[in-house]
Order: sequence, then structure tokens, then C-alpha cells
Amino acid sequence: MKIKKINKVAFIGIGLINSSLARDLRNSGFYNYSSAFSRTKKTREILRKLKIVDQVDENIENTVRDADLVILGVPVAAYSGVLKQISCYLKENAIVTDVGSVKKSIIKIAKKYLPNGIDFIPGHPIAGTENSGPEAGFKGLFKNGFCILTPDINVKKNSLNTIIKMWNTVGMKVDIMDSTYHDMVLAITSHIPHIVAYSIVGTVSDLEKSIKKEVIKYAASGFKDFTRIAASDPVMWRDILISNKKSILDMLSIFKRDLSKLEKAIKKEDSKFLYNLFSKTRLIRKKINK
Ligand code: NAP
Repeated sequence: MKIKKINKVAFIGIGLINSSLARDLRNSGFYNYSSAFSRTKKTREILRKLKIVDQVDENIENTVRDADLVILGVPVAAYSGVLKQISCYLKENAIVTDVGSVKKSIIKIAKKYLPNGIDFIPGHPIAGTENSGPEAGFKGLFKNGFCILTPDINVKKNSLNTIIKMWNTVGMKVDIMDSTYHDMVLAITSHIPHIVAYSIVGTVSDLEKSIKKEVIKYAASGFKDFTRIAASDPVMWRDILISNKKSILDMLSIFKRDLSKLEKAIKKEDSKFLYNLFSKTRLIRKKINK
């Protein structure tokens, strides 16, 4: 199917993810003109210096007006406010998509605010770092990664293909998934690892001063990896954990069950259990690295 070229794209919120997307899409031929909304003066000044979009605006209505494609790149708790503000300024037949890390709850919000005729194609590029803001973005962030889309079955084929093309343009393969399934898979692969990291680094910071000092000194071992994850943006992760509460709590109870099995095995000095578990997990690492 031939996909019509996008004339104007609007980035709503342009931090790490949307600014990386803007960098990769600029000069790719995917669109003719790009605009970005930021509510913060400092961010707008940075964006003007970076020159990754054609227009930077503090006015959200101006940003979305005449846009054929609107890409939301804000924390999940900001969706209601943003969609409420833009809904009556959207061009007829515009496509709205997003990059948010949870899908079920934001689909509900989009259904509430978006007018008929607007196709909403929820998206989640599986890529990122612990850093935030437009200066943290970079070209090539999405290369060779996966983007998960969770569209409604009734969206126009052309709208879906436009979004698939956008992610392909920046080097991502696209998987289509049900939103509930997406939230469950991401709960175990991303959200719970973040909870573990926040929890372990929090525990260390609560320990006596002297222990903390030693931890920092010898952090080159496994702890350092946890501190990288636990340095992730507090607003973004607060919103993700609350918005994906159900799947996270389900997965957390499985995780706690397995953790207590591990605890028992250590208590009983069950070397066979420990060896088998660690051999199994080593194979998973090998598979991921392939
Ligand atoms: P980020 O670097 O912190 O950027 C977020 C942007 O949202 C900022 O430009 C900020 O604008 C704007 N913003 C925040 N609250 C807002 C509000 N209430 N109204 C309007 N604008 C608001 O975040 P990010 O890492 O790009 O994440 C953006 C989205 O991508 C999130 O939904 C996240 O779940 C998802 N995601 C993140 C990653 C990751 O690794 N970081 C990976 C995949 C998906 P100002 O600067 O103007 O304040």
C-alpha cells in the first residue's frame, strides 16, 4: 500500500524519546515540516539551539494545528491534560500516536478525549536510557530495536502503516500486540527490574553512613548496574508503576514467590537448586546476546 507523505508532524513533549525520534526523522523524508511543544522556557531554548525541529512553540494549539501526525512524548500521568487540551484543535483525519511505556490505561484516556475520525495508534519503542530531556536524546537510539504497537482493530490501515513506516525509518522492527498483553510483558521485563533496582539502592541509602561509603567504593560490581537503573527519571517511573498497577502486582507476587524459594534454598544450603537456577539464567543471557 502506498503511504501518503506526512506534511506536518507535531511532537508534544520532546525529551529523551521524542527528541531522539526527531533527530532520526529529520532529513529522512518522512515529513516536510516539524513542530514541537514544550511548556518549559529552558527546554524551548535548548530545542532552538539543537535545531532538531522546524518550529518550537509554547502554545500547544499552534503546535498541533494542521498537523497530520501528533506524537505524544510526555509522562503517562500527563496524557489526560494534554489530550484534553489538543482534542478540538486536531486536523480532521490526523493520526495521533505516542511512545508511552504503558498502554492499557492510556488507551482509555485517548478514547475519552479524542474525537471521532482521529486514529490513535498507541506505540512503545523498546529503547531508552536513564537520562531525560532533549539534550539526552541522540541519533540511532532506536536502531535494531523493537517498537510495540497496540492499535484498535478499527483503525484505518493507512494510519497503521504510516506509524509502522515511521518506526522502520528509524531502524525499528514493529510488533503488533494486545495492550493488556503488552502491559503484562513489560511489567516483568522492565517495570519489576526497575522496582528491584529502586528498592535495593533505597535500602543501601538507608543503611548506616559507613556502609554506604564502602558500597560506593566497591560499586564496580553488580550494584553499579542497579544504580544506573535506579537513576531513571522519578516522575516517569512513578507514573508507569501506578498506571500499570494490576500487571505489576500480579508479576510481583510471582517474583516474591520465586525469591522466597531462593531464600529457602540458601537457608537449606541446597546447592543443587542454586546451581540449576543459575545455569538456567545464564542460558537466558546467552540467548539475549545472540
Ligand atoms: P523526558 O526526557 O523526561 O521528557 C518528557 C517530556 O515531557 C519533557 O519534554 C517535558 O517537558 C514534557 N512534560 C512533562 N510533563 C508534562 C506535562 N504535564 N505537560 C506537558 N509536557 C510535559 O521523558 P522521556 O524519557 O522522553 O519519556 C517520554 C515518554 O516515553 C514517557 O511516557 C515514557 O514512559 C516513555 N518511554 C521512555 C523510555 C525511556 O527509557 N526514557 C523508553 C520508552 C518509552 P518540559 O521539558 O517542557 O517540562
